Amino acid sequence: MRKQSRPNPPLVLEANAAKWNAQWVAKKRANPAASFDWYQFEGRSVREYLVPDLRNMNQGHCSFCDWFPLEVSSNEPIEHFRPKSREEFLEQAFEWRNLYYCCELCNTSKREQWRDELLAPDSDDYLFDKYFEFDFTTGEIKPNAYANPTDQIRALATIELFGLNKNSRPKYRQLALRNWSRTTDPVLDDFPFRDFIDLGNLTA
Ligand SMILES: [Zn+2]
Repeated sequence: MRKQSRPNPPLVLEANAAKWNAQWVAKKRANPAASFDWYQFEGRSVREYLVPDLRNMNQGHCSFCDWFPLEVSSNEPIEHFRPKSREEFLEQAFEWRNLYYCCELCNTSKREQWRDELLAPDSDDYLFDKYFEFDFTTGEIKPNAYANPTDQIRALATIELFGLNKNSRPKYRQLALRNWSRTTDPVLDDFPFRDFIDLGNLTA
């Protein structure tokens, strides 16, 4: 999970988030089975206004597993970090700081789950090395063995909910590092799993 810094919210969200949050809360409370949909704004889905800035926040990589490139489709997922369907988080459905660019695998792994321990890649105190390390023989991501117990629990919760060692990701991390090392003048942002490549280069 790459350290990220969040730009200011798109103007359309800044202007309308409070109203849209209130609408979603009202809809969900009236009908708990109601499904979430982005509102339309001036003929376009609100999602379309948000995706460019969210995508740029992590150079087009998944915010959580750093997969790249995400399939460009009409359905590039925006992850609601605090689930939009849970009563305690309904009012954050259109909250800028709750939205992340996210691959299909991370999105379907986490779904509407929540744990307070989860790490956010753009929180002030987040640094990869503080919480995580890699096993370069297996390609797996693990809690940093030298982190304090609380930080290790946070790392483990994040690995589990986003499934960061599932779907052959360990194998693909190793593949990305190999591809990187075989490429002339490689550009890091063009490869998935940049933390793995960064640290793998140091240990190679
Ligand atoms: Zn992902």
